[in-house]
Amino acid sequence: MSFEKLGLVPEVLTAIDALEYTKPTPVQAKVIPLVLDGKDVMATAQTGTGKTAAYALPILHLLSKKEHKEKSKRAVRALILAPTRELASQVGKSVEAYGKDLDLTSAAVYGGVKFTPQVKKLEKGVDILIATPGRLLEHIKQESVNLSKVEIVVFDEADRILDMGFWAEVESILALIPKKRQTLLFSVGLSKSVKRLSEISMKKPIKVEINNQGDLAKKVKQTIYVCDKEKKCELLSFMIGTNNWHQVLVFTKTKQSADEVGSFLEESGLKTLILHGDKAHSQRTKALKDFKAGTIRVLVATDIASRGLDIEELPHVINYELPGDAEDYIHRIGRTGRAGHEGEAISLVCKEEKSVLKDIEKILKYALKVEFFKGFETKVWLDKEASKNTIKGRIERSKELKGKSPNSILGMRKKKANDRNAERKETMKKRKENKGKK
Ligand code: AMP
Repeated sequence: MSFEKLGLVPEVLTAIDALEYTKPTPVQAKVIPLVLDGKDVMATAQTGTGKTAAYALPILHLLSKKEHKEKSKRAVRALILAPTRELASQVGKSVEAYGKDLDLTSAAVYGGVKFTPQVKKLEKGVDILIATPGRLLEHIKQESVNLSKVEIVVFDEADRILDMGFWAEVESILALIPKKRQTLLFSVGLSKSVKRLSEISMKKPIKVEINNQGDLAKKVKQTIYVCDKEKKCELLSFMIGTNNWHQVLVFTKTKQSADEVGSFLEESGLKTLILHGDKAHSQRTKALKDFKAGTIRVLVATDIASRGLDIEELPHVINYELPGDAEDYIHRIGRTGRAGHEGEAISLVCKEEKSVLKDIEKILKYALKVEFFKGFETKVWLDKEASKNTIKGRIERSKELKGKSPNSILGMRKKKANDRNAERKETMKKRKENKGKK
């Protein structure tokens, strides 16, 4: 299957050629023909599968084929709703890139930035509007946007839109859009609320299932390191430092721990920035920009960054804490191994997080191998999986140690661990001293 065979207008083909997309991804191959055919589509696909182009390319094609009804002031013809400003902004950029050679305009509006420049942009008229529900409603109230001519609506990451409590906003927005329209819905999973949204907003939707969540995650090398809660910071900094990793995205569960972990890493001499919902939009944008540009080594973020963050070839994602919602694990590790590249996702898991790990394994439909990081072993993980990895278990398997008595091996191991600890402490001390000198 090629993009040419899908029958997209030449301007769109040139734009995707410039982006070096050689062939459609599975979600694009399935969704694009349905959208071109005017069908309502309900697809399970997450960020990283090429879902933005799956709806944006046929929308651009369809809109470019029809004349603008109001030449003087363009009414919104396609509305794309996204849960977060990060995703809205990213989709906005993609739509701009895909439609650069077409006579169509687009804008992304979201909260956390000034209202007036958005009003000015909307006043000029836009064909394709990308918006977060809250900010869109504000514009509706101020009468800076008119949705009465919308022909196509997209819910991007519908599950997250509803999880974030935007149900009432979505209902209000739907009430202002013509009933005769095409509706496209993209979601990672099909929760009850997503199904309800499809019932109230779609007509005979065609279902497209792309995600087998476990398969999706399989392209990422996943490692679980069991350790004590209070050792996590040290292990994290040691791991990044000794492996000499230069672009690491670290996820925490709360804003507070993002702040704490960020400060610890910075103090350890690793250039780090923090991204969470309490940061001003300008700080969030800067953190992302610096991280993408490689001027900082570590970005510590809450789940706000687990969706909508698109960095080509991000090599390492570390879950400092497992997410509260097991599905977010898939989103987080999806930040690495993108668009066919290899990636590694590491999770530091303490005994308090055992049940979340089990929930994650249920979604993945396979068990994750539990390992210990040398020098940071813990004795409090009483699990069958992990017990295979206890020091005794490893000794039995180790050929290198064949013939030696278990007790003498244990002694050797202990000595090695002590040496490593001393070495680590020395490195940390040196880093602190170096930092002090700067
Ligand atoms: P998305 O799932 O829309 O967030 O897209 C994930 C990444 O895949 C983005 O960096 C896109 O630019 C890229 N991408 C989308 N479609 C294709 C394609 N057909 N070939 C190669 N890369 C693509």
